[in-house]
Amino acid sequence: SGRVAGKRALITGAAGGLGQAMAWMMAREGARVAITDVDLDGARALADAINAEHPGRAFAYRHDVTDEDQWVEVIAAAVKDMGGLSVLVNNAGIGGRLVFVEEDTVANWRKVQAVNQESVMLGCKHAMPHLRASGAGSIVNISSIAGLAAGPGMGAYNATKAAVWMYTKTIALECAKAGWNVRANSVHPVFIKTPILDPFVAMAGGDEASAHQKLARGIPLKRIGEPDDVAYCVLYLASDESKFVTGSEFKIDGGMTA
Ligand code: NAD
Repeated sequence: SGRVAGKRALITGAAGGLGQAMAWMMAREGARVAITDVDLDGARALADAINAEHPGRAFAYRHDVTDEDQWVEVIAAAVKDMGGLSVLVNNAGIGGRLVFVEEDTVANWRKVQAVNQESVMLGCKHAMPHLRASGAGSIVNISSIAGLAAGPGMGAYNATKAAVWMYTKTIALECAKAGWNVRANSVHPVFIKTPILDPFVAMAGGDEASAHQKLARGIPLKRIGEPDDVAYCVLYLASDESKFVTGSEFKIDGGMTA
């Protein structure tokens, strides 16, 4: 039983802050979950913890999302281990350098594009045959509020997250037009308490609480987000509760862009 009972989900970058919350929530709600990350130790530790509470639900894989061969291998292994694939969450992402344009570099852009943007195409491409075969597939792409609104110093990140937002709509329309029962939606969190905020903490002299307070200033609900705030949205999009929802974007931002 559970809101995603019988679903088989692959989550990238799942050893990180948001991915962990998503993996726990999906496993708790009845799904089998493939936890993939470049950090294999982190992925394994998470899978072990989940399996201790929900035996047989979690599987861990080493997976660099910028590498097409690894996508092919990891998806094949996950499909075999889980008995199929019905949900893909493209969650892996990096912030890139916090710099203004004159200090920015092509190396930074290529790195951020490879991890945040190209990876999403690779995931959609190689997961699609399995998502179609599942009979009710769902793709959830983790963009950011930074894909909808700009922030100084975040050029590469803004550009990749905007690309993911638009690409998600293309995929949604392709699936609909082709008559595949696969939906695609994007999720746009504002600042959420995870290690990706470390550069802001460093700017605040290492004081995490004061960094979080500073980031919360522009947010009408007067706090930054918790990983579960995002995971609840991903759970809904992964489930059949959202079966009429595709090509949409979901802001999880405490009212910041209202
Ligand atoms: P995080 O740093 O805690 O987790 C990111 C994970 O991605 C890490 O476990 C890391 O090992 C993994 N990763 C990095 N490069 C990878 C690669 N090449 N292949 C596979 N895995 C890789 O950050 P998070 O906050 O959990 O971020 C998850 C997603 O949410 C990202 O796409 C991020 O851009 C997005 N997001 C986060 C926030 C926030 O404030 N936390 C806000 C908006 C959007």
